[in-house]
Amino acid sequence: MTKNQILIYDTTLRDGTQGEQVTFSAEEKLRIARRLDDVHFHYIEGGWPGSNPKDMRFFEMAKAVTFKHAKLTAFSSTRKPYIRPEACPNLKALINAQTPAVAIFGKSWDLHVTDILKIDLEENLAMIRDSVAYLKSKGKEVLFDAEHFFDGYKNNPRYATRVAKTALDAGADKIIFCDTNGGAMPHEISDILKKISTAVPLGLAGIHVHNDCGLAVANSVAAVLGGVKMVQGTVNGYGERCGNADLISVIGNLQIKMKMNCLPAESIRQLTNLSLFISDVANIPPLMSRPFVGRSAFAHKGGVHVSAVTKNSLAYEHMQPELVGNSRRVLVSDMAGKSNIAYKAKALGIDLDKKNALGKVVHQVKLMEDKGYQFDAADGSLSVLMKKAIGEFVEPFNLECFSVVTSRTLENPCLSQATIKISVNGEEELTAAEGNGPVNALDHALRKALTKFYPQIKEMHLVDIKVRTLEGSEGTAAGVRVLLDSTDGSELWSTTGVSENIIEASWHALIDSIEYKLSKDKKKK
Ligand SMILES: [Zn+2]
Repeated sequence: MTKNQILIYDTTLRDGTQGEQVTFSAEEKLRIARRLDDVHFHYIEGGWPGSNPKDMRFFEMAKAVTFKHAKLTAFSSTRKPYIRPEACPNLKALINAQTPAVAIFGKSWDLHVTDILKIDLEENLAMIRDSVAYLKSKGKEVLFDAEHFFDGYKNNPRYATRVAKTALDAGADKIIFCDTNGGAMPHEISDILKKISTAVPLGLAGIHVHNDCGLAVANSVAAVLGGVKMVQGTVNGYGERCGNADLISVIGNLQIKMKMNCLPAESIRQLTNLSLFISDVANIPPLMSRPFVGRSAFAHKGGVHVSAVTKNSLAYEHMQPELVGNSRRVLVSDMAGKSNIAYKAKALGIDLDKKNALGKVVHQVKLMEDKGYQFDAADGSLSVLMKKAIGEFVEPFNLECFSVVTSRTLENPCLSQATIKISVNGEEELTAAEGNGPVNALDHALRKALTKFYPQIKEMHLVDIKVRTLEGSEGTAAGVRVLLDSTDGSELWSTTGVSENIIEASWHALIDSIEYKLSKDKKKK
């Protein structure tokens, strides 16, 4: 292990799933575990095999998987009170999981021993001693999680120290100091670690903190500065209550800002993808403002900022976004001047100098924003608008008319039918289609009509529809703004539409989406 090596211990699959919205099937857990292994995480805590059948199934399936970099770890508690370790069902399940490493937690706060477990303080120490020694005798690498360690130390430093020392003396390979309630302050973490270091070498120690004061990442960093060599946490900070330490931020800070060694550089460039992947599997929308990897992490909106960043990105960025696989974004909004639009055009690969289109596009964007449009998240619409302004793209069809009917009967669910008539170069096409909602039906009918002329439309489909009711101040006439996400498998793009009528707003966004697809395929040729 190199001098500055910090081990990354992921508990997304165990502690992360304590988060209110987070659930993974056993199959999803396996997918995540493989991904974490790919990015060279050192430990992956897969679950608590004794606690539920799903985790048991996960460990069963994991037996067939070879992890290249990570040690798969199973989690459990120490043995139950007043029984022998070999008779404890928790420890039995732990051993049956057949993982190279195991983590067991024990109480280090006397209050938990006397008031919650309601057992003798000495029996708690015996439970720790017996369990660690038993698991070591089975050839396991044993990590001991000293639960509530910092609260325990504040209340009774002597007993908390004895707990950690007992585990160490029984053969534990690592002692993990936990701030289970998430209430510790960074200076307390530093002070207590300094004191405990006389009993437990911090080179064998790890930190596991919760984010109840918004300090989980700061506390993890403080612990590393204090000398611990392992950080436990979850990807995206998922976890009980306010979550665990977000490993993405922990790694970003330790490796990029503090030049320590957590993962290979190639893995650091995967952090943005990893964060999105976990959000996707958890089915939780990614947090735009997530440090390092969020979509907004390197987004610039104010005109002054944008013109400065185009001169030197250091002016408003603490690091290069590419280091973590993220990218700089310039948001086009009513705060934008010409520099924003010019920058954006460049990023989209459109030459607005052609036909002196810059002024025209700025003017048009401002007018549309006045109606309630927002292009921040709608690069697809903006791209189409710009390409039309320089004459690189013309409307691929004319709409003659459309109608949508939505009906439901007692027996049948709500169903929408759309009829649409378009013309391409004078040739008319009339089609009808159904959908589970009006936008869906319109999308089906329009694509059906157009596929005859533009077969590549078959490749694309809608991914997400977001509808936002506009406040009076957001547009001259109150209405709705629709944002559509579409994909053709190789790219994801967003388009937008605004109207007083939700169907019409969706229609505009739909047209932009199809035009975007056609315009990008045209360029490819
Ligand atoms: Zn925890």
